[in-house]
Amino acid sequence: MARTFVDDRTFGDALGQAVAGEVDLESALTLFRGSSRPERAARLFGAAAGVRDRVLGRTLELSAHIHMVTRCELSASCKYCSLSSTIPSVSDERSPLALREALQGIRYALRRGVRSIVLVGGTDPDGSDEQVRTLVERVREVTDLPLGIDVGPSLSAATVRWLVREKVRPIYCSMETINEKAFADAKPGDDLWARLAFMELVERSGGRLGNIAMNGLGSADDLLETILASRRFPHTTHLHISTFHPVPGTPWERRREGALPVSLRALAIARLAFPNLELGLAEVGVENPGDLASVHSQLLAGAGNTLAAVLVYKRMRVDNVDRIREQAAAAGFDISAAPAPARGAIDPR
Ligand code: SF4
Repeated sequence: MARTFVDDRTFGDALGQAVAGEVDLESALTLFRGSSRPERAARLFGAAAGVRDRVLGRTLELSAHIHMVTRCELSASCKYCSLSSTIPSVSDERSPLALREALQGIRYALRRGVRSIVLVGGTDPDGSDEQVRTLVERVREVTDLPLGIDVGPSLSAATVRWLVREKVRPIYCSMETINEKAFADAKPGDDLWARLAFMELVERSGGRLGNIAMNGLGSADDLLETILASRRFPHTTHLHISTFHPVPGTPWERRREGALPVSLRALAIARLAFPNLELGLAEVGVENPGDLASVHSQLLAGAGNTLAAVLVYKRMRVDNVDRIREQAAAAGFDISAAPAPARGAIDPR
């Protein structure tokens, strides 16, 4: 078990080993606890950014997340999700998009220069196969940019294999937390084991996996354990760390929000553990617009090399392209600038 108090030598040894690629749970906890002091946090971030620069370089691509392409049918909704809000204007943020609206949002994002698209929807235990296949086919008529999907464990084995053949990657399934009790508390309508089984299905099918771990569910130790649990799934290519932010009207509206510095330290440890993954803080722009302030910080802590810059929702679009470009340039990153060509009809707006 790692110590709560971490002296300089122990921290330095753990950091040296981590830079050499050796990160287990004990050394991750040592790095996490030891970096509660600002000067050590700066060393941790510097080491993680150095690994990122060496392995991935300092180029950055922007992505668009299109919400919600499928309705979430979980009952009850997750306690932190705007869908569980009793305030209609808040829960409406996650209303499902019509196909036409999703395609309009994608065309907008293409004009803004994003280089990949992620289609984000809710979880439907009865399956979203037909809807997802139709959407992917229609999106492919508009663009051949890299396309990912994030609808949780809502897809059959046949559709997962179809998505793999269609080169839809990654296929996300957020673990959120590996702590069963914390998961059940936060997500009473969801099933951690169904999520893990789905991740295994994606692995077996030859797909690429995306995963999200949430800072704010369970303890900091749980967060690190969840991040390192990605090792169970060697096909993981994308890993994000979200930071719990209380949403008005939800059962967790009064819960203390997750601390950004905790997410950043966990992110840096994740970079040392997984040098070549796409890593970053998860974007929840509608629920927490302050997240944008973290772009510069996460790049300094080893994030890269894709950032969500355009978020499309039913009733709003969040366009952070210009501000991310500014912050990325200040951190010494090059961003792929050319807008991606769209195929098919031109969005009249
Ligand atoms: S699975 Fe996702 S969309 Fe559904 S309630 Fe939970 S957080 Fe919200």
